[in-house]
Amino acid sequence: MNDTAALPPTRRAPSDRTRVRRVAENAHYDRATLHAIIDAAYLCHVAFSDDKGTHNIPTACWREGEHLYIHGSNGGRLIKWLGQGIQACVTITHLDGLVLARSAFNHSMNYRSAMVYGRFEPVADKHAALAALMDHLALGRQAEIRAGNDKEFAATTVMRIALDEAACKVRSGPPVDDEEDMQHPVWAGVLPLVQLRGTPVADPLNAVATPGYVHAWTGLTQAVGPLDRNARQ
Ligand SMILES: Cc1cc2nc3c(=O)[nH]c(=O)nc-3n(C[C@H](O)[C@H](O)[C@H](O)COP(=O)(O)OP(=O)(O)OC[C@H]3O[C@@H](n4cnc5c(N)ncnc54)[C@H](O)[C@@H]3O)c2cc1C
Repeated sequence: MNDTAALPPTRRAPSDRTRVRRVAENAHYDRATLHAIIDAAYLCHVAFSDDKGTHNIPTACWREGEHLYIHGSNGGRLIKWLGQGIQACVTITHLDGLVLARSAFNHSMNYRSAMVYGRFEPVADKHAALAALMDHLALGRQAEIRAGNDKEFAATTVMRIALDEAACKVRSGPPVDDEEDMQHPVWAGVLPLVQLRGTPVADPLNAVATPGYVHAWTGLTQAVGPLDRNARQ
């Protein structure tokens, strides 16, 4: 399962294409940062090229160990092309704030982002993988729902990409202005953005008591960034 704590120390060397060059001090290649960014996401974007050009498709994602998982209909473009073993790039971005600097040039954003490169492979044990998706959405739900039937599983492909070649970039903290702008009379700072979990809306046809994971949902905000860095983007 999601076993960051059990894994050996965390440094992974960047490849030529994952080595961050722009504002390299905001780069992270360690397992813990990558896992935290993926685990805080329900959504990723998968970029790949086919015979019609380049696409960047948003889709649900989750992590198991050292792989990022997605799923889709057998007939979908994503599954059709990724299933051929083509190169892909997965991105995840959490926007944490708008950074208002004293100059236009130094405005920025606070964020946690990850990019994973490689090829997807089909997952043989779809039942276990999709159970993990259910638990990623709401821990405990898998045990309560009607399980998928043979027809549903047959229509669905689960794919995963190894987290071997990945980079993270994290910015947090106030604006970084140039010395000569520091006396400019304008408000500077951060306008934070959080993803807030709203109040659950029960289906009017509900016939069961509200489970604990639904009660627990309300009011929680998305986890904040794992690291405190302060630099330009
Ligand atoms: C919310 C947000 C807003 C941004 N706004 C801007 C903007 O307005 N203008 C702008 O130029 N840039 C912006 N960035 C930064 C942008 O993502 C790139 O880091 C930047 O453009 C440099 O790209 P590059 O390919 O030239 O960098 P390089 O340093 O040459 O990239 C080398 C490698 O580093 C990795 N890498 C680069 N960027 C990221 C990243 N963000 N996350 C994970 N890995 C990465 C990739 O593997 C890439 O191939 C923003 C990022 C976020 C998350």
